[in-house]
Parts: sequence; C-alpha cells; structure tokens
Amino acid sequence: MRTIEEAKALIESLRPLQEEPADGYIFPCPRCGHSRMDEKPVRNALSRYADVYICNLCGMDEALQDAKGKPPLPLNEWGMVRGFDEDERN
Ligand SMILES: [Zn+2]
Repeated sequence: MRTIEEAKALIESLRPLQEEPADGYIFPCPRCGHSRMDEKPVRNALSRYADVYICNLCGMDEALQDAKGKPPLPLNEWGMVRGFDEDERN
C-alpha cells in the first residue's frame, strides 16, 4: 500500500496526459477505474482532493460525501493506485 503522498503524486502525474492524450488514448477515471471519462477533459470533474480530472459520477460522489461530512476516499485507495499496486505484485 502506498502512502497518501505517493498516491497523490501518481494520480496527479496523469493530469498532463488527460489534457494531451498520447495517441488519443483516454485513460479511465483514476478514482473509480471505469472507462467513462469524456474525451474532452473539461467535461469531466476536477477532484477536490487531487489536481486531476475524474469522471462525473466520482465528482458527484466526492461532493455528496463532503456534504454529508464524510471523509473522502483516501487517495491510496483510488482505482488507478490500486491498479499500480496489483501490477507490481504480479
Ligand atoms: Zn470515476
């Protein structure tokens, strides 16, 4: 398991690729891991907790949890970070 700081750096390294997709590849949402990102970065949501675009469902979820006074999903439990951890274990 990565620290929050490591996870944040990993997640935020995605932002330039979201804005300038190499070969037009649209990365899945870093938070939930689902391929439901709009190809236009600005049509997605900006996370409140990391400088990165997330899908609109995750954007709504962050807002809802925040409104309920619940703590956010820790950055080291985001789909993208878990995916990296699994790759390293295999
Ligand atoms: Zn998402």
